[in-house]
Amino acid sequence: MPDNEVITFGCRLNAFESEIIRRAAEAAGLSGAVIVNTCAVTAEAERQARQAIRRARRRHPAAAIIVTGCAADLAPERYAALPEVDRVLDNRAKLRPQSYLQEDTPADLSETAAHLIDGFEGKSRAFVQVQQGCDHRCTFCVIPFARGPSRSLPMGVIADQTRRLVAAGCREIVLTGVDLTAYGADLPGQPSLGQMARRLLAAVPGLGRLRLSSLDPAEIDAELWRLLAEEERLMPHLHLSLQAGDDLTLKRMKRRHSRSDAIAAARRARALRPDVALGADLIAGFPTETEEMFRRSLDLIAECALAFVHVFPYSPRPGTPASRMPQLPPPVIKERAGRLREAGTRALAAELSSRIGGETEVLVEEPGLGRAAFYAAVRFATSGIEGSVRRMRLVGSNGRSLLGVPVQ
Ligand code: SF4
Repeated sequence: MPDNEVITFGCRLNAFESEIIRRAAEAAGLSGAVIVNTCAVTAEAERQARQAIRRARRRHPAAAIIVTGCAADLAPERYAALPEVDRVLDNRAKLRPQSYLQEDTPADLSETAAHLIDGFEGKSRAFVQVQQGCDHRCTFCVIPFARGPSRSLPMGVIADQTRRLVAAGCREIVLTGVDLTAYGADLPGQPSLGQMARRLLAAVPGLGRLRLSSLDPAEIDAELWRLLAEEERLMPHLHLSLQAGDDLTLKRMKRRHSRSDAIAAARRARALRPDVALGADLIAGFPTETEEMFRRSLDLIAECALAFVHVFPYSPRPGTPASRMPQLPPPVIKERAGRLREAGTRALAAELSSRIGGETEVLVEEPGLGRAAFYAAVRFATSGIEGSVRRMRLVGSNGRSLLGVPVQ
């Protein structure tokens, strides 16, 4: 039976769910199908998904093509209308084996995915979902409408999932969700993200490397700061959902933090864990953003000493308040995104140069390539050590990755 092909767009949560989709479709006896797990964060992500659907039909004229994910959840009729598409599933149905059979029944929103996977595309680094949905209403974002309210997975499920992946050979676990820092607010006793992470490390002593996905700088809890300072197994790398560097823009985005909060969080992380590296999401060209306001996003990169900058050209999403604000001309959005990316490239090169001469624990992900504890890519000559963690001296950089030599 030919395998099903799962094509994933978007975030780490989607990547995790694609592993569940793969198993659900198999459990339902589906074979030779193409399942496209879409993303709705930008118009570009949707364009790429439609392109992938057309390409899949050309390559597999007889295959069942099933489309799911946030874009399909928000506009099922639009994807159902595509001649290449056989079935459209919403974000809840995509995780259920029944959805890949003929008959299907609707699922209720309160369901949290208690599906356990026992591997992650054969990789030594795996994503683990701990939270789903979002209760915030950032004015540019459609995600809450595609993923529902915030809900957290119980500690037991997270520990079981992590143990299973560690037993399967995963050396690094990345905790993921839609609004990770909202973890626990809906659970008895309201455990915080930091408390959950500390308990997880205690419950799975075999887990050597724990990493966190995007964090809302306004909602990092006290226990998480303590864990960052004290726990070697929590990787010295935080990715902050900053979005902009100007307070008026942040206000119009309905974000919960200010520019000074962002800078304070970056400085606090560095004070608690001097070897930490920081990343951030930044949007270029949000409606009403002037050149002066944009420059505050640009110089936030240096103010926070960011190393890994993910740039999103603003993309109006249907039905969002921001899409009804006065829009900037697309060439201006594109030009500003270009300037942010250039600044990000310079910032990464500076960060990598500052690490030369030091040492770090590298997770070897493929021959000659691995990931440093502080998230940078590390290249090395040694082979035959895939899936292991090796201490390496950092001897050079090409501005995008470091060059490492295993320490004997
Ligand atoms: S926190 Fe804001 S940007 Fe993030 S998913 Fe929720 S609404 Fe969207």
